[in-house]
Amino acid sequence: MDKVIFKIKRGTPEEWQYVEYEVPVEKGTTILDGLYYIRDNIDHTLSFRASCRMEVCGSCAMMVNNFPRTTCSTQIENVKPDGTKNGIKVIKLEPLSGYPWIRDLVVDFDDFFKKHESVKPYIIRKETPEGQLLQSPEQLAKFKQLTLCIKCGACVAACPISNSDPLYLGPAALAAAYRFNADSRDEGKNKRLAVVSDPEGCWRCHFSAECSEACPKDVDPASAIQKLKVQAAVFEFKRIFTGRKDGEK
Ligand code: SF4
Ligand code: SF4
Repeated sequence: MDKVIFKIKRGTPEEWQYVEYEVPVEKGTTILDGLYYIRDNIDHTLSFRASCRMEVCGSCAMMVNNFPRTTCSTQIENVKPDGTKNGIKVIKLEPLSGYPWIRDLVVDFDDFFKKHESVKPYIIRKETPEGQLLQSPEQLAKFKQLTLCIKCGACVAACPISNSDPLYLGPAALAAAYRFNADSRDEGKNKRLAVVSDPEGCWRCHFSAECSEACPKDVDPASAIQKLKVQAAVFEFKRIFTGRKDGEK
């Protein structure tokens, strides 16, 4: 394969169309390389988000043939075509699904980060600790995989609930809640559980696991959410029997 056609959804929600571009391909060329080629050589008005080019910043996720992927880590030769045109493989690129669309391949992440912030994704302590908070390798292992999340938003784009219910907290925020609840240094579990126990929180998830399939970092938000449900159920029982809204004894 020495070239490919990118069929890109271009425009704004008011007026848009698919535009096709021929992109040269070598071994290892990524979708993101192809987008930079178009912007540098064919059409400098093409809008997309990207930064690190090494699956760290989480900026470049978009729909590639209807599936959310980080384009910096998706090599063109590994993508099944959406079709062919004159014998050339066609790849369809669209903005991430489930987010407000701004223009071309750019979506609005404001709501994604608001939801993330709402679950208090940081260590909470009742008092400021004196000195270091030590942690054993076994304690770290309980949440280490979840720390790999790069906030790319692919899981939300893959989730059928997030796509149909804009109020749902979504897999990224819920996985972040579990990541801190599982951290032995944290004392804010109940504060997070009060947020995720909301009807638009973890109970909306039906464990179809599309989110985990889409995650480029193998974070596995789907199983984190199921563990969060167990914590939330215990929290709700405590709320009922103690009468305290924060679930404390
Ligand atoms: S497991 Fe839950 S969060 Fe993940 S895609 Fe399915 S419904 Fe969405
Ligand atoms: S859980 Fe995975 S797919 Fe979701 S934002 Fe984090 S890295 Fe991206």
